[in-house]
Parts: sequence; structure tokens; C-alpha cells
Amino acid sequence: MSPDTRCGDLHLHTFFSDGTYSPEELVAQAERQELDVLALTDHDTVEGCKPTAAACQVAGIEFIAGTELTAEQDGHEIHILGYSIDLENPTFLTEIAKFQTVRQNRIREMVQRLNELDVPLQAEQVFSLANCRAPGRPHVARALVQAGLVGSLDEAFERFLKKNRPAWVPKFKMSAAEATKLIHQAGGVAVMAHPGLNRSDEVIPVMAEGGLDGIECFHTKHSGSMASHYLQLAERYHLLVTGGSDCHGLSKGRPLIGTVRLPYKHVEKLKARASERRAALHQSPA
Ligand code: AMP
Ligand code: ZN
Ligand code: FE
Ligand code: FE
Repeated sequence: MSPDTRCGDLHLHTFFSDGTYSPEELVAQAERQELDVLALTDHDTVEGCKPTAAACQVAGIEFIAGTELTAEQDGHEIHILGYSIDLENPTFLTEIAKFQTVRQNRIREMVQRLNELDVPLQAEQVFSLANCRAPGRPHVARALVQAGLVGSLDEAFERFLKKNRPAWVPKFKMSAAEATKLIHQAGGVAVMAHPGLNRSDEVIPVMAEGGLDGIECFHTKHSGSMASHYLQLAERYHLLVTGGSDCHGLSKGRPLIGTVRLPYKHVEKLKARASERRAALHQSPA
């Protein structure tokens, strides 16, 4: 039997959150990268999943519906990826709508702080540029550049938007346990995103105990040694292994899609876990 060379990128954003690609553009890039499977993981929304699934079907690429939730564990901001979510799950949709409202209010607060710093940006400029339900700091940064108020996205983050900079506003977050439960009750699989960016490995056993299914071992910002380290942790805590580029389209220069290529054997295990979860939900509806 020939070896399975199939691979995927399971961490991608579109313009339904803070990426720049449309679903169709994202899938065209995935085709160019010869990916066999992709997962869409927009922040706090699953709105892009249906159009991306449709484009994937045309392209002959397997699609996994996902999202990326912002959560908190022991004072650390943790991003939790949810995979194979039921896109019609009412509890899930109601809860993420609340976090979309939190994001919209946070934009208004960030703009107010900028105004107090004599930076004359208007919230409407950010909303019209973002044109989505889950706006974030990258949209504020782009609006600042577009209005000629800063020279670059980096400058916007460095001067104003990074944590503890003057226009940074903390985001209300659910706990990691709540995020995991929300994903599970929607039939999904919960995976801790880019653990190497959080520098908080001590939360992994706690979250594993709380039902976390996996960790994202392969990520653009993980070095080879970090990936090995997280593969070891995944084995120790019996967690699934995932990986993705975290591509935001053209917002950060070169598009990252396809730079992280997850071997298909990990996708199989992720799908198996999702099937088990769906079957368990059918047997004992909450
Ligand atoms: P938010 O969800 O509004 O807190 O924004 C988080 C997004 O901002 C993530 O997708 C990051 O990729 C992006 N981001 C965070 N810090 C920076 C930074 N220093 N420079 C550029 N982008 C950043
Ligand atoms: Zn993002
Ligand atoms: Fe993230
Ligand atoms: Fe992301």
C-alpha cells in the first residue's frame, strides 16, 4: 500500500472574522497549495462555514466546520478551536452571538480611547471596513492605516492596540471549561490553539482533565522543537494532535495557508472523535 500523503490546514480565517479572504478566495488558495482538507476557524463565528463548504465541494477539498473561541484559564488568555460543530446548534449560536456583541462594544471602547489620545478615528470607519459580526483589533489597525493615522498595522499594535498599550481594551472571556462544554454540546471537538504562544503549559493538564480533546502542535509560530514538545504533551495527556497555519489572508504580508501541513492520520483521529461525540449526544440528549 502506498503511504498516505494527504494533508490539511486546520486553522484558517476569512473576512467573516479578521482574515482578508472570502471563502472562495481561501479555497482557491487551498487548491493552489494542493491541500486535501481544510478547516475554517473564524473568531467567534461560524457564518463563513456554509459558503466555504460549498466552495470546497466544487474544488474537491474536504471541509471541516470550525471556530476559534477566546477563553480564559487561570488568568491566561487561551484560544480554543472547535471542530465539526453542528452549525444549527441553538445553544452554540446564542452563546457566540453574545461574544459578537462583546466584540462590537469593545471596538467602540477602543475608538473612544483613541479619541481621548487625540486620534480622530470613528467607530463607523472600523465597522464599515470590518463588515462582519466578529470585529477585532486587526480591523481597528486597518482602519487606522486607511485613515492615514498610523503608517502600518505593526505601528497600530505597537503604539495603541497591544496588551497594556493605551487603546487596548480587555475582552470579556468565557472560561476554558465553558468553551469546551459549549463546543461539546454542539457535537464538536475542542482543541487548544497555538499553546506555544501562551507560554502556559501548566494549564494543559487542567484543561485535559476538564474535557479538552486536543492541542494544536503544529502552528506557524511554533518552532520544530516546540512542535516536538507539544507532541510529547499530547501523548502524555492523551490528547489529539492538530495543526494549521492561522492564515489571515493578506493582512500579514505573505498568505500563510499551506505553510503548515497536518498529516491526514491526525485528521482521521479528529473525525473519529467527532463521530463518537455525535453518537453520544444522540444517545443522551442534554
Ligand atoms: P482580538 O481578537 O480583537 O483580540 O485580536 C486578535 C487578533 O489580533 C489575532 O488574530 C492576532 O493575529 C492579531 N494580533 C494580535 N497581536 C498582534 C500584533 N502585535 N500585531 C499584529 N496582529 C496582532
Ligand atoms: Zn485572528
Ligand atoms: Fe488565536
Ligand atoms: Fe486564529
